[in-house]
Amino acid sequence: MKNNLTEDIESINWSELESLAQKSLEDLFPICRSLTGEGVRRTLSYLQNIAPFKTKSIISGTKCFDWEVPKEWNISDGYILSQTGKKIVDFQKNNLHVVSYSHPIKKILTFDELRPHLQTLPNLPNAIPYRTSYYKRDWGFCLTHKQFLNLNKNEKFEVVINSKLTNGEMNYADTVVKGKSDREFIVSSYLCHPSMANDNLSGVVLWIILLKILKSFNLNFSYRFVLVPETIGAIAYLHKNKSKIKKVDSGFVLSCVAGPGDFAVKQSFQKNSVIDLVTAKAFIKKNQKYTLYPFDLNGSDERQYSAPAFRIPTVTIAKDKYYEYDYYHTSLDNLDFIGANHLISTLKIYLQAILLLEMNLTYISKSANCEPQLGKRGLYPNLGGSIKQKAARSKVSISASIENEVITGEDLELIKWIMFYTDGSKSLLEISELLNEDLEKIYKIAKLLESKKLLERKA
Ligand code: ZN
Repeated sequence: MKNNLTEDIESINWSELESLAQKSLEDLFPICRSLTGEGVRRTLSYLQNIAPFKTKSIISGTKCFDWEVPKEWNISDGYILSQTGKKIVDFQKNNLHVVSYSHPIKKILTFDELRPHLQTLPNLPNAIPYRTSYYKRDWGFCLTHKQFLNLNKNEKFEVVINSKLTNGEMNYADTVVKGKSDREFIVSSYLCHPSMANDNLSGVVLWIILLKILKSFNLNFSYRFVLVPETIGAIAYLHKNKSKIKKVDSGFVLSCVAGPGDFAVKQSFQKNSVIDLVTAKAFIKKNQKYTLYPFDLNGSDERQYSAPAFRIPTVTIAKDKYYEYDYYHTSLDNLDFIGANHLISTLKIYLQAILLLEMNLTYISKSANCEPQLGKRGLYPNLGGSIKQKAARSKVSISASIENEVITGEDLELIKWIMFYTDGSKSLLEISELLNEDLEKIYKIAKLLESKKLLERKA
């Protein structure tokens, strides 16, 4: 661990991380996850071997605002058997074949009786759709449209779903990576989808790698890492942590981060929150293009965090955003579609945004009564009158330096402006916007002024 986050990020071994991402994606992909159950617990314990975090649980039936934690769902098998004894649809081959939260069934049905329980995608005939029935007592199968067309309508079918709905628990991850300041940012994702890669396994893997990286850094701010089943998990989390969550400033909701297509950013409901600003700046810094999507109530858990009682602005940086790619919520969103290399590209943008966030400190001047005398602190040329405004851009010899770079006349102007603006009401990001100057530059100078005891950190 170094003192400088920029150097920390530069020292990351990206190829090692890409291998870790690839292995995690491969290992976790086959697990049948849902809102609750063994699949979620297995996934969480696998992730804990990559980076430690706390897990928590809420028992079935717990009321959370307007919602209730559902029964725990577990499934061991599911199939449709033809009269000849052939398995036409088999959960063991693909866990998307059974509608998530299907009730158990064992019955012989005619085609007409079976038909209302079958889901297909005529426009994508080789894809198995992803369907759930969390809150309505039901059962069903999902199959490719090709499989469906091959069913013999005069036949009878045996349908079997070996599932259990029990009074169990809903499991999730919740851990805070502590920085120097208590000011918190949330990094949230969800882990309720069965075998699909971009939505949502990629978000889970980016979440754990980001947690592993931030744990090794010396951070200014604190980061609350939350991994819950989508919607009910986030609602239950907010219900359980109502007072703690008030401390959260803003954050990220991770989803769909490893597709081969374009980058996308979903804005927060505030549009110009600090997270929106650092995200936009991160893309500029990385010289990457992206499509900007305005905040929308469809999507992921951002709508829970942004609810009237919480109003936490969150941004999503995606690569092949949900709704925007054809394979979304189908079996074709698999490991062939995504790439660990794409996941790492998105991770780099997130890290750049976090790096900028980390530079967005707020300072209070320790020389608030008058402009400080810079000369006695080695921040001003010894020969008075040598800096005219016109010459401000030229290099002047000053005994102090910003990270071993000579302070220029331009820097001297920035020093004066930063001392002028640091009354505790403006963050460095706001000051950089006012001065139309790079945040990194403003941060470096502020650090120098802090070392000269001219500024002290507010938050
Ligand atoms: Zn989804």
